[in-house]
Amino acid sequence: MGTVAVRLTGAIKRHGRAPAARAVLDGLDLTVDRDEFLVVVGPSGSGKSTLLRVLAGLEPLDAGRLERPAGDGVAGPRPPTGVVFQQPLLLPWLTVRQNIRLGQRYRANRGRFDAGAAEELLARFGLTALGDAYPDQLSGGQAQRVAVARAVAVRPDVLLLDEPFSALDPSTRAALQDWLREIVAALRLTVVLVTHDVDEALYLGDRIALLDGSGRVADSWRHQPPADRAEVGDLPLRARVLAGYRTDVVGADTSGVAAR
Ligand code: ADP
Ligand code: MG
Repeated sequence: MGTVAVRLTGAIKRHGRAPAARAVLDGLDLTVDRDEFLVVVGPSGSGKSTLLRVLAGLEPLDAGRLERPAGDGVAGPRPPTGVVFQQPLLLPWLTVRQNIRLGQRYRANRGRFDAGAAEELLARFGLTALGDAYPDQLSGGQAQRVAVARAVAVRPDVLLLDEPFSALDPSTRAALQDWLREIVAALRLTVVLVTHDVDEALYLGDRIALLDGSGRVADSWRHQPPADRAEVGDLPLRARVLAGYRTDVVGADTSGVAAR
């Protein structure tokens, strides 16, 4: 057992108004350990984005508890989370470098932000040549790398990613998955990534948690991601995760898992 980075206990989150209100998270328990790469997988509508927004502190719980213990020996305010969504959401009037330094503009981050480190991130993320470019000059994959760099630049204690590569074409998606694995290992980041793509989950996560539409984590597995993505299709765990995909989730879309 490692140190806890973030923990949800008995989390309940309802969407909609009574009498149509529905508990999307319904007594969900989840613990994320420091340095873990957790991938939460589940069909569309199973509550992945809701879970991520709750973990980010962007949405309050209706009941239950969210804990984010401060990092070891870190004094002062709680470190921020970094959040990346499916769309990069870069500010179009700022350059890549300025977008990455955006966190510096917020008072809460001042002490945590270091311009030298931001330059290093540009280099590490392969973005130095694009530092002065504007978002409309970037490809989708480049823009998403900038979005991840911006989230990492504030030195978050947890990096949260919501289907970050689903809008990209397959070859760019594969390249960014490789890239993210390297970045996460090199920077020893604690990550929670949600996706409906089981193969992506098995290639990235050292733990896989399944949301099956019940509002709770239906199952969770420790996992050693294969070195080669070609091995993902043969993993016994793949069949077990897919077996947990219910087709009766409201608004479920399992198209992303049927192929292959
Ligand atoms: P996922 O990311 O797994 O596709 P979501 O967390 O986005 O799932 O949504 C889970 C369920 O909650 C869906 O049925 C969705 O329609 C509903 N939902 C999500 N956000 C809201 C909201 N802000 N208001 C009302 N219903 C919502
Ligand atoms: Mg979603």
